Amino acid sequence: MSTGRFAPSPTGDLHLGNLRTALAAWLFARSAGSAFLVRMEDLDRAQASADHERSQLADLAALGLDRDGDIVRQSERFDRYEAAIAQLDAAGVTYPCSCTRREIREASAAPHGDPLPDGAYPGTCRDLTDAEREAQAASGRPLALRLRGPGTAVTITDLLLGEVTALVDDVVLRRNDGVPAYNLAVVVDDAAQGVEQVVRADDLASSAPRQRHLADLLGLPPVTYAHVPLVLGPGGRRLAKRDGAITLADQLALGRTPAEVCGRLARSLGLLDEARPVHPAELVATFDPNRLPREPWTWSDADAGTVGP
Ligand code: GLU
Repeated sequence: MSTGRFAPSPTGDLHLGNLRTALAAWLFARSAGSAFLVRMEDLDRAQASADHERSQLADLAALGLDRDGDIVRQSERFDRYEAAIAQLDAAGVTYPCSCTRREIREASAAPHGDPLPDGAYPGTCRDLTDAEREAQAASGRPLALRLRGPGTAVTITDLLLGEVTALVDDVVLRRNDGVPAYNLAVVVDDAAQGVEQVVRADDLASSAPRQRHLADLLGLPPVTYAHVPLVLGPGGRRLAKRDGAITLADQLALGRTPAEVCGRLARSLGLLDEARPVHPAELVATFDPNRLPREPWTWSDADAGTVGP
């Protein structure tokens, strides 16, 4: 058994790339006879909405991707994230940070030492003296909480990508607006929900090593990972509205059925020799992760159709 999940952020319509990842995650779980859970990653209250959640769930249902259990919403689970933060606090591996994004950018670009990977925290607030900590607390600046990371690379083995190695730096655990950070929430939730296999888009592959490190620190079981290559728009950019009929609703408006859309997604995943209408359940028996592509799928005009009249 390897309980799987799909964890979208309800901040807009799912596009066909998201639905394709959901199909892959569902097939990994169902072909192993496992549960498939759906979690709404709605920590960002400014962007998440109940309407987006509804439309995302309706799209999954329309495609035939059924789920087990109730929908879990991260916005309702702050107490769990705070308990994990308290555990890390007690282990002495956290510290408050008052840096703004701009300060981090400028410090990372400073001409000393080795250049840091994109977005890595340069450690400005890591080793403050007691007096500096007091000044930081008294400054009135909003404080984020960071992990005192190992500052070394961690490697995970991905079922599709092989070994993925990334620096585990001082990741944010709680943002300076008080909201728990994604990397923490995802690790806490996957463990709490009994998720054993994480199948998601490969833009998150480089986050997996820090998530594994956090799980280790929290004494949580490791998950296995399969990061599915993204769908890209023409020219190799991220898929976007301008690329045509990229949502299920757009495709239905063109007269395609959910089974036709599912067939197209399955074809793009290497699971059908040609696109034909299919229900996901028909793909379970022959699902073979080894057939999944290792390269992005570039969306073409033929896939896109024309939106609207
Ligand atoms: N909520 C993330 C997203 O929509 C996915 C996180 C995950 O699967 O770990 O991109």
